[in-house]
Amino acid sequence: MHKRPPIRVLKRRALDELQGKLKGRVIAPDHPDYEAARKIWNGFADRYPALVVRCLSAEDVAHTIRFARDQELQIAVRGGGHSSPGFSTIDDGLVIDLSLMKDIQVDAQRQTARVSPGVKLGEFLRAVKPFGLTTSVGTASDTGIAGLTLGGGFGYLTGKYGLACDNVLSYSLVTADGNVVHASAEENPDLYWGLRGGGGNFGVVTLFEFQLHPVQPLLGGVLIHSMTDAREVLRFYRDFFEGAPDELTIYAGLITGPEGQPQIVVQPCYTGDLQQGERILEPLRKFGPPVADLIQPTTLLEMVTQYDPGMPAGLNYFDKGCTLSQLSDAAIEVTIEAAWSKTSPLCAITIQPMNGAAARVPLEATAYPVRSMHYMPVILGVWKEGPAEPHLEWVQKTYRAYKPYAVNETYANLISVEQQNSGEILYGSNYARLQAVKRRYDPDNVFRMNANIQP
Ligand code: FAD
Repeated sequence: MHKRPPIRVLKRRALDELQGKLKGRVIAPDHPDYEAARKIWNGFADRYPALVVRCLSAEDVAHTIRFARDQELQIAVRGGGHSSPGFSTIDDGLVIDLSLMKDIQVDAQRQTARVSPGVKLGEFLRAVKPFGLTTSVGTASDTGIAGLTLGGGFGYLTGKYGLACDNVLSYSLVTADGNVVHASAEENPDLYWGLRGGGGNFGVVTLFEFQLHPVQPLLGGVLIHSMTDAREVLRFYRDFFEGAPDELTIYAGLITGPEGQPQIVVQPCYTGDLQQGERILEPLRKFGPPVADLIQPTTLLEMVTQYDPGMPAGLNYFDKGCTLSQLSDAAIEVTIEAAWSKTSPLCAITIQPMNGAAARVPLEATAYPVRSMHYMPVILGVWKEGPAEPHLEWVQKTYRAYKPYAVNETYANLISVEQQNSGEILYGSNYARLQAVKRRYDPDNVFRMNANIQP
């Protein structure tokens, strides 16, 4: 926990004036809800805003942006609050907190959903379930749909339906001057392009319209192997996955089991005909064989809730991802060495792939910076208490070890705080075009608590 920094005390009259314009709530440091309102999922992002404003509408957002700019307060925007580097909170600035904006409207006939920015993945999947519809989202139910989709959005249906951002039909956002703007393929197409992978750089998104797809049967779950077999398991995983159909996406993770034993888990998710899925998964399930095979017919909601208890809010997290065009034998060795040398049983490495439909989108079609099959190791430093340094060093050391095998472009949702101003590297060949969009919609870089694009 870091020491409470000096925070600007805002004039009561100015706060009352702002409150008078809002449907939502102004929460200053003397408010009884301040302690809860300043916190996000990551306990390590322990910051003290000068003000948190819980908005309930686009008008609230517009008033709040104007207030922040008048008062010269830096802005942080919060959707689900799962930013690991803590971009959705800020010392001595103003948090635009959208977490109470939870409206979800499903149009079953058009197979679309209009989703407000405070919705979390679990809430979304529960709301679309009665309609027999779904879309591509992430893998943990507590993650916000807003930040996840703005950065890209990987999940178990990535191979079949692409990234979450590939499924957004339109956005409404409030720009830095407080105006409401819409973006779709027809309306402000440059902004629509930038919003699909360019993060929260252009404004505060108050509505996402998603394309939905009819729910197909799912065959998925976990295969558990002993860590002593990690080398063979990871090599088999890679070779097996290279020829996989779009319907199959497979994650892998090097974690600690319930009795403290190091484990490697392989998590396939097949969407489509179940018998076909059984046939396709058979070699993966036989390999080893695994210590436990927990694959069964399942739902996306079950898949995204299976690891919730393992990543609770309030622990200290420091993580970092990188992009490997191949899961080479050398990169597998880095993974195994890191898993054996981790600094806390809670630390983990997960490998998430981009495959199928997501990998076939032309690079220039959206702002997302890498469109070819690849693997993203995510190095998760996690600890309950005590000094941060050993865990930070483990993450950084592992990251450096992966570097010779990685490309520069990195998923903006998997960066650590010191990469905030590395936009040029992270967004690769799409950066110049992103800068042009940024200059048009946020020339003063009002929205810079993110993987930032310099105007
Ligand atoms: P927040 O902390 O609210 O925001 C994150 C960023 O987005 C901030 O820069 C914020 O300013 C900006 N932002 C949020 N809402 C808005 C908005 N409405 N308008 C403008 N800017 C906004 N990613 C994947 O792709 N797949 C996964 O499976 C996955 N799993 C994860 C599991 C866990 C446990 C965690 C912690 C993260 C995971 N991530 C995953 C990464 C995740 O996508 C990012 O952390 C994402 O930014 C979280 O979104 P949020 O709305 O919860 O975050």
